[in-house]
Amino acid sequence: PLVLGIESSCDETGVGVVRGRTLLANTVSSSMAEHVRFGGVIPEIASRAHLDALVPTLRAALDEAGVRLQDVDALAVTSGPGLAGALMVGVAAAKALAVATGKPLYAVNHLVAHVSVGLLEGTGVPGPAAGRADGGLGALLVSGGHTEILAVEDLARDVRLLGATLDDAAGEAYDKVARVLGLDYPGGPAIDAAAREGDPAAFRLPRGLSAGKYMGSAERPGPHRYDFSFSGLKTAVARVVEDFEARGEPVPVADVAASFQEAVADVITRKTVLACTEQGLDTLLLGGGVAANSRLRALTAERCAEHGIELVVPELSLCTDNGAMVAALAARVVAEGGEPSDLGFPADSSLPVTTVTV
Ligand code: ATP
Ligand code: MG
Ligand code: FE
Repeated sequence: PLVLGIESSCDETGVGVVRGRTLLANTVSSSMAEHVRFGGVIPEIASRAHLDALVPTLRAALDEAGVRLQDVDALAVTSGPGLAGALMVGVAAAKALAVATGKPLYAVNHLVAHVSVGLLEGTGVPGPAAGRADGGLGALLVSGGHTEILAVEDLARDVRLLGATLDDAAGEAYDKVARVLGLDYPGGPAIDAAAREGDPAAFRLPRGLSAGKYMGSAERPGPHRYDFSFSGLKTAVARVVEDFEARGEPVPVADVAASFQEAVADVITRKTVLACTEQGLDTLLLGGGVAANSRLRALTAERCAEHGIELVVPELSLCTDNGAMVAALAARVVAEGGEPSDLGFPADSSLPVTTVTV
């Protein structure tokens, strides 16, 4: 099916067009530049930016795809989770388009969309074999607001939560640590760049919830075997920085960034590979903004290969928020005969990851 997807859950206005598993267009307009001086996304500014960007982004995506609105088989939109006001702009626009064109509209979960994008032909590394019937499918979602290990029974309708962060999301930890190190917001790309010049073994930093009492054993799993915690790591980094400052010495930013990045990538990949192995998941979909992280990508690939897990990694531009991922998930739902949404659906800022479509 030819599907057009709209994304507006945070600071990116995205419109993507896919035909089945083929990506035809992915246009993104970001209001990030307007949020940088505040050190975080300001909801009111993001909502207004979506209003300005939506129609031009839609036009650009249709142009890029070489299709007209009346050609599409279905429309799709992120209905949650995300910033309420930001979501409402995309949802209202999608409903208006559905009414005006008579096309069916599929309201989908932003988080499931993040891990669905690797299914697009030629975007995953290696080629996406995911979703095949024989082995189990797992997903690692690492984004600005979420860090979750998922068992995907059926991408179009059935997702189970195996583990999640108890406090900060991975992206949030990156953003907070970047601030402590005096690096720019958003912190993920800044730390990734700074870490290239640093020694990942310079500082030994905590891997949250990795102690025996949390992990337990395969037979007797501990209470947080597949869960994460990044608040202790964040505090440990702050203490390292304070120690240097107290001594009047320059903070070795690259070494701290590299050591922090190593701790995050290590604990995330270790627990994810463990979950896949124990739960019989032999294909892993990676998704979310932090999936753009160079060390996380490398270590996930290395450890998946060691354990015979097939890894599907989206190309960099598809990791952060975009409309193509929304269209990709909806195309899958359409292909599996899923019902379109009743146009009365709300924008739901706290939609749980287990609700794939609304
Ligand atoms: P959610 O998807 O949970 O609603 P979000 O949509 O705001 O949250 P994304 O757009 O998926 O989040 O990801 C943004 C996050 O990704 C930010 O926290 C940013 O710092 C992080 N990020 C982006 N690039 C990198 C990178 N190279 N390394 C680490 N983190 C990164
Ligand atoms: Mg964003
Ligand atoms: Fe996101």
